[in-house]
Amino acid sequence: MKELSREERVAALREARVVLVSACLLGEACRYDGKSKGSDKVMRALEGKEVVPVCPETGAGLGIPRPAVELKGGAGAEVLEGRARAAEVESGRDRTEAFRRGAELALAAARRFGAEVALLKERSPSCGTQGTHVDGVVVRGQGVTAALLARSGLTVVSDEDL
Ligand code: SF4
Repeated sequence: MKELSREERVAALREARVVLVSACLLGEACRYDGKSKGSDKVMRALEGKEVVPVCPETGAGLGIPRPAVELKGGAGAEVLEGRARAAEVESGRDRTEAFRRGAELALAAARRFGAEVALLKERSPSCGTQGTHVDGVVVRGQGVTAALLARSGLTVVSDEDL
């Protein structure tokens, strides 16, 4: 699928009636560190729209707070294809299945409520749309949820596109 420019992504968000949104961007304290990433510009961009909040990691039962996770060996698309994995940064504990399950839950929510656009938190190993943490550094690529949504036909937009 052709990669959209930032302008095209923002235009898709502007035209969307229903938007799947990373819950932390709406002020939910659901991040791994127990904090939120509430954003005025996100709230402004969503004015008048139907919002479907999702947090793939808490949806998969990982809890709040939870150990930070990064991707190992590749970004979200490679995780979905079984060529990379998700693991806790400190302990190395494998979290691939939870990340895949969280992504499936987000996709199911998008389908149930008819969202064709997702507004997601940049650089998260689940939600990052342009960049994510792989092997200790931020690389160009998507988190696991963003990759599944994008390959399922949704337009993924990040808070940093706004
Ligand atoms: S970035 Fe995604 S997985 Fe992380 S807290 Fe926000 S909604 Fe949850």
